[in-house]
Amino acid sequence: MSVQVTVICMLRPLEVPFRYLFGPGPSNVPPRVLAAGGRGIIGHLHPEMYEIMNDIKKGIQYAFQTQNNMTIAMSGSGHAAMECAVFNTVELGESVLVAVNGIWGERVAEIAERMGANVHIMVKAPGGVFSNGEIEKALAKHKPVLFFLTHGESSAGLAHPVDGIGDLCRKHNTLFLVDTVASLGASPIFMDQQNIDILYTGSQKALNAPPGTAPISFNERACQKMFNRKTKPVSYLFDMAHLSNYWGNDGQPARLYHHTGPVSGFFSLRESLAILAEKGLEESWRHHKEVAGYLWKGLEDMGLKLFIQNKDLRLPSVTTIAIPEGYNWREMLQYIMKHHNMEMTGGLGPSTGMVSVRGMLKF
Ligand code: PMP
Repeated sequence: MSVQVTVICMLRPLEVPFRYLFGPGPSNVPPRVLAAGGRGIIGHLHPEMYEIMNDIKKGIQYAFQTQNNMTIAMSGSGHAAMECAVFNTVELGESVLVAVNGIWGERVAEIAERMGANVHIMVKAPGGVFSNGEIEKALAKHKPVLFFLTHGESSAGLAHPVDGIGDLCRKHNTLFLVDTVASLGASPIFMDQQNIDILYTGSQKALNAPPGTAPISFNERACQKMFNRKTKPVSYLFDMAHLSNYWGNDGQPARLYHHTGPVSGFFSLRESLAILAEKGLEESWRHHKEVAGYLWKGLEDMGLKLFIQNKDLRLPSVTTIAIPEGYNWREMLQYIMKHHNMEMTGGLGPSTGMVSVRGMLKF
C-alpha cells in the first residue's frame, strides 16, 4: 500500500521573497555569483571541475594571504570547517584551549568535547578581549595541542586582535586555529605573516556567496600534526587525508572519489573569490570600514549605543547595537522585518538579549 502524503503544497510554484539581509549571514548575493551557481552541472570529478577547484584554491590562498598547499573548500557550512579543523588536529584526550567571548568559542569547545578532547576554556563577557599575556599564561598552564580564537566574533560585533598570538603558540608547541567566518574580506587577516596554523571562513558572509561551502587552510605545522596521528579522525567526511586528495593537494597522480562535492556551490564560491581578487583585499577592507563608519555614525546620531565601544575593535562586517532599555528586541526585529523587509537578528548564545546584530549590503 502506498503511503498517503498530502502534496498539494508541492503543486504551487516556489516562492522566495526579496529580503535585505542585514543579519550576520547569509548576505545578499550579487547577480554575477547567483548566475555562476545557476550554470549547468558537470561531474565533480571532471577535469574542468578540477580546474575550477584549483582556481578556488588560489582564490582562498589570496583571501587568506597564505601560500599553504593544504588549502581547500569544505562541502558544508562554517561548522564543517570548525569540525574539520578540530577533528583532524586533535586526538582523543589531548588538551585543547578555547577562548570564549561569544557563541563561537562555546561552539568549538563543545565540538572538541564531543570528540573526547580535554577542553579548557578562557572566558570573557561577550565582546571581551584576551590579552596576549592572559593567553600565554593559559597556554603554559594547559599545554594544549590546539588554541582557538574567533577573529570576527559575530555574536558580539568584535574584531579580536591577532598579532603576536601565533608566536606564543609556536613557543608553547600549540597549533593556532582562527575563525574568520564573519570577518574574512572585511577585516585584515594575514595567515602566514601572523603565524596562524589553521584558518577557516564561510562562503555566505563578506564573500557574498550562497551558504554551503567553507574555505579552510592548514600550514606545514598543522599538516605535520594531522598527518602523523595514531588514530583516524572521528569523521570520514571531514578526514583531511581524503579531502587533500580530492583537492589535488597530496601529490598523488589521481584524485579518487571520496564524496560528491557541491558543484553549484563551488561555481558560486569561485565567482565570489574572483570578485574579491578583482577588487583587491585592501580595497575590500577599506570599503567595509568606510561603509561601517557611515552606519556607526548614523546609529549614534539616532541616539543608539553600539555594543563595542572601542571603534578599533569593532567588526566592520557585523555591527552590534546595545538593546535600548525598555524595548523588546524580538518585537523590534519583527517590526523591521514586517515593515521594511529587512533582516536583523538578536544576539546569539551569551549575547542573547544584549545586542541586535546588523550586517550590511555593500554592492
Ligand atoms: N563562526 C562565526 C564567527 C560565525 O559568524 C558563524 C555563522 N554565523 C559560524 C562560525 C558558523 O557558520 P555556519 O553557520 O556557516 O555553519
